[in-house]
Formats: sequence, C-alpha cells, structure tokens
Amino acid sequence: METPVRETDLPPVVISGPPKTGGLRDRLLELLPEGGNLNLCLTCGLCSAGCPATGGEDMDPRKFLRLVSLGQEDEAARSPWVWQCTMCQRCIYACPMSINIPQLIYYARESWPRDERPKGIRGSCDQALKTPTNSAMGVRPDDFTFVVEDILDEVRETQDACKDMEISINREGAEYFLNQNSREPATEPDEMVPLWKILKTVGCDWTYSDVGWAAENYCMFLSDDKAWEDVVRNKVEAVERLGCRYWLNTE
Ligand code: SF4
Ligand code: SF4
Repeated sequence: METPVRETDLPPVVISGPPKTGGLRDRLLELLPEGGNLNLCLTCGLCSAGCPATGGEDMDPRKFLRLVSLGQEDEAARSPWVWQCTMCQRCIYACPMSINIPQLIYYARESWPRDERPKGIRGSCDQALKTPTNSAMGVRPDDFTFVVEDILDEVRETQDACKDMEISINREGAEYFLNQNSREPATEPDEMVPLWKILKTVGCDWTYSDVGWAAENYCMFLSDDKAWEDVVRNKVEAVERLGCRYWLNTE
C-alpha cells in the first residue's frame, strides 16, 4: 500500500529533533536560514503587516523577534501574545529573510509549564487524547455515526440532487479518508453537506472512519509534542487500517 498523504502538503511547522538546551535567542539563531544574520532583520515589519495577531497584547511578530534578539527572551516568551499566534505561517512568506517565527513561538509556548498554558487549548487537547475519534469536543464514534446517518437521511428526503447520495463509514479500500472538524457533527451538522456534495459531484471515492476522523489538533497549538504525536498516530492508524490511499484533512 502506498503511504497515505499526511495532514497537509503545506510546509510544516517543523519540530526539529529533541528539545534544545539553549534559550530562545539560541533557538532563534538556529532558525536563521543558512548564512542568515540577525542584524539582517530589516525591521521592515512585513511579518507584522499580514499577521492576524498583530496588536494583541501590544505585541506583533516583529516586536517579538526584536525582544528575543535583544536578549529580552523571558519577556517575549512569557507574553500572553504567544497564545494568539494562529501558526498560519504568513510571516514566513512575507519575511525577506524567511525567518520561521511560528517555530520560535512554538518554542516560547513550550517554555510555559503545561498547567499554565491556556485552559481552553489544554482542555481541547486532553479531550482529543481521551476520545478514539480525537474529537476535541468529545464526540464519540457512535454519536458521529448517528449524526452522519441522520443528516444523510434528511438531505436525501429534502434535496433532489441528493436522492441517491451514499456516505460510507469504515469502508475498506476507499481512495480518500476524510477528516472532519468535530465542531460540525457536534453543533452544525448541516455544514457537512456542502463538502459531501462537492465530493459527489467530482465522483470522489471516499469514506469516513468512526475513529480518528476529527480534523482539529489542539495538541499542536498547545506545544505538546508527545500529545500531538499521539493524536496524529491514531489518525494515521485509522487511515492505514482502511487501506485508503489519500488522507484528506479539511483543517
Ligand atoms: S519580515 Fe523578517 S526582516 Fe522584516 S521585520 Fe519581520 S522578521 Fe525582520
Ligand atoms: S504564524 Fe503567527 S506570527 Fe506569523 S503571521 Fe501567523 S499569527 Fe502572525
């Protein structure tokens, strides 16, 4: 069987090996592109201009980077702003030096004791670890199956274009394994339907699994490497169990 496609084809926020012993400034130096020099940070502000977290807590990525580079690492790392970064990676693409600022923010988050990290993110990660679906909202396998079947019945009855729609769960050998943000089955189940229609229109051969289907992964945002890995492993095992060729993650 070919290796399933992983969560994203976009450049990952790379977790590069075992934890480093140096401080945040040392880690920043390690992140500079080859031949990079902190003095070359132009303070141009391009990173901040497109950052959705700019301005929160009176901070932005340019200021965060300057604090670290000037040795005020603790002030930077302990700023609550580090939890406002969405890890969207826009700043990397905007920066003429390609500095991986979200990786640095990930390291800053790691420096917080786990029980001091934001309760909402921590709780969502812990919930995902407790549930075989990896749902941060605690949606169980049988609840997911019930909701999918219920919504499918409804659209078949009410929408002509969906009269013959088929949705499978745990179908071995399907080409695509579809992940779904658990907010949808939990609170907005009708929001699953547009994607079903698109997949039907293009003739996609896909399935859900009743485990490992939750697309979100708050353990990454929590900077908890072990938990992040455990969640991804569970999802990968679900893909491999069904022998699907591609893993389609909607997050
Ligand atoms: S975009 Fe890059 S060079 Fe410009 S201020 Fe931000 S980190 Fe420095
Ligand atoms: S990755 Fe974080 S710092 Fe960079 S643009 Fe996105 S939110 Fe801002």
